[in-house]
Amino acid sequence: MLIGSKPSLPQSRHVDYQIIKAMFLVGIAYYVAALLAIHQTITPEGIAILWPPNAILLAAFLIYPYRYLPYIAMAGVIAELIASISSFPIWAAVSFALINILSVSIGAALIRQKSGQNFNFNQLKNGAYFLLFGPFIAACIAGMLGGSVYILLGRSDTSYVNLWQIWWFGDALAMLILTPLIVVLWRWIEAGMPNFKWSALFEMTLIWLGVISIGYQSFEVGSYEQTFLFFTPIWLVLLGIFAAIRLGVIGASSTVALIAIFAVEHLMRGTHPIILSLPQSAVLLTQEYLAIIAIVSIGLALLIKEIADQRDILKQQEKALKSQNQFLEDRVNERTIALKEVNQALQKANDRLAKSAATDELTGISNRRHFLSEVQRELQRLRLDNQTASAIMIDLDHFKLVNDNLGHEAGDVVLREIVTPISQAIRPRDLFGRMGGEEFLVFLSGADDRMANTVAERIRNEIEKLPITYRGQQIQVTASFGVAQWDGHAELDELFHQADKALYQAKNLGRNQVFSLTMSDKAAVTKSSQENHFELP
Ligand code: GH3
Ligand code: MG
Ligand code: MG
Repeated sequence: MLIGSKPSLPQSRHVDYQIIKAMFLVGIAYYVAALLAIHQTITPEGIAILWPPNAILLAAFLIYPYRYLPYIAMAGVIAELIASISSFPIWAAVSFALINILSVSIGAALIRQKSGQNFNFNQLKNGAYFLLFGPFIAACIAGMLGGSVYILLGRSDTSYVNLWQIWWFGDALAMLILTPLIVVLWRWIEAGMPNFKWSALFEMTLIWLGVISIGYQSFEVGSYEQTFLFFTPIWLVLLGIFAAIRLGVIGASSTVALIAIFAVEHLMRGTHPIILSLPQSAVLLTQEYLAIIAIVSIGLALLIKEIADQRDILKQQEKALKSQNQFLEDRVNERTIALKEVNQALQKANDRLAKSAATDELTGISNRRHFLSEVQRELQRLRLDNQTASAIMIDLDHFKLVNDNLGHEAGDVVLREIVTPISQAIRPRDLFGRMGGEEFLVFLSGADDRMANTVAERIRNEIEKLPITYRGQQIQVTASFGVAQWDGHAELDELFHQADKALYQAKNLGRNQVFSLTMSDKAAVTKSSQENHFELP
């Protein structure tokens, strides 16, 4: 389809262009590196101390996407042929090219398979895979095959194992020094150079100045035995480590590369500090020296990075955990507050319920059940304190008539109104309750029947005078009072029977009056009053 195919066209062209760019870049870098390497050969066979082309090829194989790799390999082969065709027969040049491509392909494939697609020197694990599959395995394979080609060329009498070793170490060392530097720099630039600091560049320059001054002094000397040397080449190891600690992988690998330039340059001029009869041995020793610096410095930088990364991860986890905790704490607090509110509401409802269970709906005073339980409690207290008390039973006179004549509603108004004078006549500690109908009970703590009589009389008088109006109509009511004094022992129902009995007498004597009976007048209690029985809740 035309519309569908349109957007993909410029993209594929773009990719092709990118591949060609990569081929040129790698090809030219490979060629320049090969020229440099050929330039720094000192052994009679022409094997280089350092073979940077393979390090460059390995870096490219680790950086570029898989589909670029055949093209990059092709660029490598062409560059190798151009570089070595003047010094070697065609078959040898072709063999060298194939050997380099093959070994680097194997190494890169293994490293990428183990470390993932987007390889970088950002984890200790990646560094370890690189060390194993690059400098050890890939370079070893290249040396093994390359050594055979040298034997076939028949240019020297160096043993095969020796040729293999020199090739291997040259390849491996270049990989150790250059590949991390290229990969790390490439990835860093690709990411837009994050965390760049001028202070770091300044520090890097200082370290490099240190390398240059110590390197110049230590490698310039003909022999330790002939000249006293304060800064020996081993000091450079310290600078490599220092760069690793301060500046990470980039700092370490660039410092190691600078040290390598010094070591190789001086080795070629023959001004290395170790006197050796064979140039091959000088090469080997220098290679080992550089390998130690590279592995220690870059390895240390990776280790430090790994630790820092782990610490960052832990910090992030801790932060997440803290916020999770805070979240939970907030939820718990919210719930606690909500629960408190619910509890308070419940408490209020309970209080309301308890109050409504204890009060008489019509008059708002204690109902029978609550009143009786209160009196019961008070009696117990009075028994212990050896005190007396009196009960006044109040019953409205001819109340039925009010209902009959004016209606039930008028009766209710009367019942509500007469509560006030009674409440006003008693003390706060005295108890007052509606026993049912138009019957009320007052319990006076600590009062004898004389005092109770006085109170009852006052109430009677107040009720008699009480101006009650219902729908514009005056209602006048009276009440009869039965007073009984408690003997200090009797049960509550006995006391109330007595008061009831007295009330009965008051009614009999013509109503609107107070009649009192003490407990000792028990004999006067008639049978009929006993049907009024008080039940305790
Ligand atoms: P006595 O002087 O002998 O006490 O006569 P009484 O009419 O007051 O006595 P009775 O026991 O014959 O009548 C009591 C009346 O009280 C009966 C009932 O209609 C009325 N009553 C009882 N409870 C209520 C109430 O809650 N509201 C109203 N309006 N009337 C009530
Ligand atoms: Mg009655
Ligand atoms: Mg009555």
